[in-house]
Amino acid sequence: MFADIILPLAVEGLFTYSLPPALEQEVKEGMLVWVSFAGQKKYAALVCRIHNTPPEGYTVKPIEGISEEHVRFSPDHLRFLMWVAEYYMASPGEVLRAALPVVFRLESVTRIARTEQELAEDEVLPEKEEAMLRALRPGEYIALQELEKYLRIRNGLPYVKSLLNRGLVRIRETVDEAFLEKKEKRVVWARLFTEREKSEILDGLKRAPGQHRLFCRWLEAACESRERKHLLTEAGSAPAVLKALCDKGILAIEEHTVSRFVVEEQEVSEGYPLSAGQQEALGQIRNFFNAGKHVLLQGVTSSGKTEVYIRLIRSLIDEGKQVLYMLPEIALTVQIVKRLKRVFGNRIGVYHSGMSESLRAELWRKQSGDDPYPLVLGVRSSLFLPFRQLGLVIVDEEHDASYKQKEPAPRYQGRDAAVMLAAMHGARVLLGSATPSFETLRNAYTGKYGRVELTQRYGGIEMPELLFADLAEYRRKKLMKGSFSPLLIQKMQQTLEAGYQVILFQNRRGYSTYLQCDRCGSIPKCRRCDVSLTYYKERNVLNCRYCGSLSEPPAVCGVCGQGRYRMRTPGTERIEEEVAALFPGARVARMDLEAMSSRSGFRRVIDDFEQKRIDVLIGTQMVSKGLDFEHVKLVGVMDADSMVHFPDFRAEERAYQMLMQVSGRSGRKGERGTVVIQAADRKNRLYDLLEAGDYAEFYREAMAEREAFSYPPFCRLIRIELRHPENVVLRNAANRLAEMLRKRLGRRVCGPAVPEVGRIGNRYRLILLIKIEEGASFSRIKQFLKESAVSLSADKACSGLRVLFDVDP
Ligand code: ADP
Ligand code: ZN
Repeated sequence: MFADIILPLAVEGLFTYSLPPALEQEVKEGMLVWVSFAGQKKYAALVCRIHNTPPEGYTVKPIEGISEEHVRFSPDHLRFLMWVAEYYMASPGEVLRAALPVVFRLESVTRIARTEQELAEDEVLPEKEEAMLRALRPGEYIALQELEKYLRIRNGLPYVKSLLNRGLVRIRETVDEAFLEKKEKRVVWARLFTEREKSEILDGLKRAPGQHRLFCRWLEAACESRERKHLLTEAGSAPAVLKALCDKGILAIEEHTVSRFVVEEQEVSEGYPLSAGQQEALGQIRNFFNAGKHVLLQGVTSSGKTEVYIRLIRSLIDEGKQVLYMLPEIALTVQIVKRLKRVFGNRIGVYHSGMSESLRAELWRKQSGDDPYPLVLGVRSSLFLPFRQLGLVIVDEEHDASYKQKEPAPRYQGRDAAVMLAAMHGARVLLGSATPSFETLRNAYTGKYGRVELTQRYGGIEMPELLFADLAEYRRKKLMKGSFSPLLIQKMQQTLEAGYQVILFQNRRGYSTYLQCDRCGSIPKCRRCDVSLTYYKERNVLNCRYCGSLSEPPAVCGVCGQGRYRMRTPGTERIEEEVAALFPGARVARMDLEAMSSRSGFRRVIDDFEQKRIDVLIGTQMVSKGLDFEHVKLVGVMDADSMVHFPDFRAEERAYQMLMQVSGRSGRKGERGTVVIQAADRKNRLYDLLEAGDYAEFYREAMAEREAFSYPPFCRLIRIELRHPENVVLRNAANRLAEMLRKRLGRRVCGPAVPEVGRIGNRYRLILLIKIEEGASFSRIKQFLKESAVSLSADKACSGLRVLFDVDP
C-alpha cells in the first residue's frame, strides 16, 4: 500500500510514501504521520490518499508512524485545503501550515556531535566548517539551531553535510514531545485511613513541624483531593515537605489531564426581543436561505445586525448544526464574546492568533472530537478548523481588508474562502456590513446573493451628524492648534463637559511618525528596506515597519552631522500628547498595535472605556471597527485625506468604508452623536457622498471608473512579486518574465513596476500585475503563470530569485 502525503513545507505537490504492513490497518486518510524527507529530517505529514499504485522513477520511503492521533482531517476538510492551495497558488504544504496550530506542526530536531575521527594533518577546512567543528565535541549532541545561533549563520545544514561526508560528525534526528495536555497534580490519601490512624499520624509528626503543619492544613481542608499547588501555597510549605509525607505512605500525588478552557458559571438568557425591522430582516434572510442563496445583510452601523445573527445562530444550533462566526480583528472578539456568552453560555469556542498555541491546539482537538463546540468565533484562520455539521458561516464586517492574508502564503481572502467552505458543507453564508465590499454588493445587485437591509439604527436613534473641518482653510487663517481644528476642539469641549466620551481616529496607513533633521531635512531610513523608520517616543526607538529592526535615534543628524532630529507627522502618540495639553483634565488612552502589544491590553482598555474610566480614546483602524460603546458622543477623524489619496485602486472604497465605520461608533445609545472629519481636500466628491450618506451612488460612480480602467470586480487580478538581493538581476528577471507572459497573455500583463516599498530586508522587489477578464480560463492562466515562473527560476542567471503569487490581491 502507498500513501500520498502533504509535507508541512513550501514544496510543490504531494509525495508518495509506502505504508508498511504493520501500519496498514491503523493509518487512515486525513491522519498526521511521521515521514522523513530530504535526508533524515522527520516531519508530521498529512495523509491525503491511500492507494496501491507504486510511484515511478524513485524508490519510496516508508511512513514511520502516526504522529498525532487526535488530529484527523475529514474528506471535506482535505478538499477545502486543496482548494485553497489551488485557487491561491500556494503549495498544499503552505496551506497545511496555515491550518494547523504550531503544536501539531511537528518536525524532528537535528542534533550534531563530533566523531572520534581527527582532522588529517594536511586537511584544511573552509572557515565555517572549521568553526563548527571547533564548537562540537564527541558524544555531545547539540541542536543545529543552537549551533547556528552560536556561529551566527542562517543555514548551517550545508556545512553539516560536508562534515558528515568527511566522517567528522554524526547527526541524530529526535522528535521532542510537543507539550499538549495540561496536567494538574492533585494530592490524595495514599490509602484509606481510619480516624484513629489519622490522629496517630498527627501525633507522630510532632517532631517534624513542617510536615505537621502541612498535614494539619490537609486535614482542615477535609477533602479527598486537592490541587498540589494550592495545598502548598495555603500551608506555606516547600515541595520537599509534601514529598516526605508521600514517602511515608500517608499522602500521594495523582496527575490529571485538565481542560484549558475556562468554564465560567454563566446565566443564559433568551437575548433581546427583536424590533419590527430586525424581525422582518430575519424573515427575509430565512427565505433567501431556504431558496438556497447566500445573503448580504446591509445594515447601517448600530442597526442591530449582531442581534439578528444571534437569532440565526440559535436556530441552527437547535437543529444540531455548527456555526462559524468570523470577525476581521481580534480586538472585536472581546466584546462580541461577552455578548454571545449571555445567550450561548459556554457553548462557544474562540480562535485567534492572540491565543496561546496550546489553547489553539486544544480547540482543534475539541472540534475534531465527539463533543465539538456548536459555535466558533474566530478570525480568518478559523476557516481551517475541523467542522462536521457546518450549517452557517457569518462573515461580519465582510468588507474589511483584514480578511485578506498578505504574508505568508497562502494569501487567501477569508471572506471568499468562507463562501467556498460553506459550499463544500452545504452551508449558508451571511455577509454583514454597513458598507459592503464592491464585490459583494455586485453579487447582491445582480441577484446572485440575497440582499437584506436594515436602514434604521436600533431604537430609532438618528445617525450621527457629520461635520467637516476644512483644514486648508483653517491653516490659511492660522487657526489650527497642532493637529486640531477649532471645530474639533469646540465639539470635544462640549462632549466632555456633558460627561460623554470621545474617540479620535488617526489613520496611519502609508505613513507614520518619523524623525526629520531640522537643518538638512534628511529622514532616517532603514538600512535594509526603502522606508523611513517609525519613531516611538515612549521607548525612544526607531523601528522598521517592514523588517522590524530597532535602533536608537542618533543625537545629531547622520547626514549633515549638525542638525537635530524633530518628530514629524502626528501619530497616535503625538495626538495623545496634544489632547493632554488641550484638555488637561481628560483621561486619555491609546489603542493601537504598539499600546496593545500585550494580550490583555485590548481587554483592559475596552473595559476601562466601557466603565468610563477613560474620556478620550485615540486609535488607529482598531477603534474604527464594530466596537459598541454606550457613551461615545463624538468621533473625530484627524486626517481623512491620507486615506483617500493612497495608491491603490481600492483606496476610495476603503476610505469610505473606514469613515462610515468609525463614524458609526458615535451616538449608539440615547442622544444623537456627532462626527467631525478633518480634511484639507474638502472638495473631494467622496466627502459629499459621505455627507449625503449615499453609498449606493458612491458605488455606482466608483464602479463606472473601475469598469473603465478594468479593475475588480470587472476582472480578476493576480499580483506577481519578484524578489532578489541584486537590483540588476531582479530587473532582468522581471523583464524576461513580463516578456514570456505577454507572448500569451498580451495586454493582460502590466509592469514590471516598483511596489510601494521597493526593498525590504535587503531584497529588492518588483511586481507584475495580471488582469484577467471575466470569462477567461482562470485556472489555465494560473497554471501558465506557475510554469513560467518555474522555468525562469531554473535559469542560472536568476539564481536566488523568488517569485510570489497573490491571487485577488
Ligand atoms: P450593529 O452590529 O449593526 O452595529 P449591534 O448589534 O451592535 O449593531 O446593536 C447596536 C446596539 O443596539 C447594541 O448595543 C445592542 O445591544 C442594541 N440592540 C440591538 N438590537 C437590540 C434589541 N432587539 N433589543 C435591545 N437592544 C438591541
Ligand atoms: Zn527594515
